[in-house]
Amino acid sequence: MIAAMKPELRPVLTEDDLRRTVTDLAERIRADYADTDLLLIGLLKGSFVFMSDLMRALDMPVEVDFMSATSYVGRESSGELVILKGLNESVHQRHVLIVEDIIDTGLTLSRIRERLLLEGPASLEIVTLIDKPARRQADVPVKYVGREIPDLFIVGYGIDFDQKYRWLPYIGTID
Ligand code: 5GP
Repeated sequence: MIAAMKPELRPVLTEDDLRRTVTDLAERIRADYADTDLLLIGLLKGSFVFMSDLMRALDMPVEVDFMSATSYVGRESSGELVILKGLNESVHQRHVLIVEDIIDTGLTLSRIRERLLLEGPASLEIVTLIDKPARRQADVPVKYVGREIPDLFIVGYGIDFDQKYRWLPYIGTID
């Protein structure tokens, strides 16, 4: 069998950068949620690598759930929210932290946030590994931002392009 070629991407965040970013985020979150029962909600699929590293870096008891929603087709946002998998847990009266991989237009996230707020959580905040503020279209409050990047299309560390590249341990750009 011929092994698939490893892609050559321009690195944006190295494995070391990612480790440091996740550790810094975890310290801030741990300080804010000391003595609080926290429910992490990971937005699939892109956040699963970040969420598993963040959860372990938090080093405190948390519960986790996942939901899957998309407003993307290929590389562009269609704007319309489609829920592919809903939550297993109720967020009613829970302290909830939405875990996102990357915020671009913010349209997906702001719609998810509005939907969860309808269920009456005790608190609802957002952590994102990466923010592309230049592309924002929806005003969504993000309490914890790992790294801001310019308007690049990135992949790796859970983030895909047409389901490829999620396995890369670093984040790079295909331009
Ligand atoms: P938004 O609604 O903020 O425009 O879209 C957020 C979602 O779009 C992210 O969770 C991610 O799945 C996808 N996305 C946004 N920017 C990028 C990018 O640079 N690369 C990839 N692969 N996906 C992106």
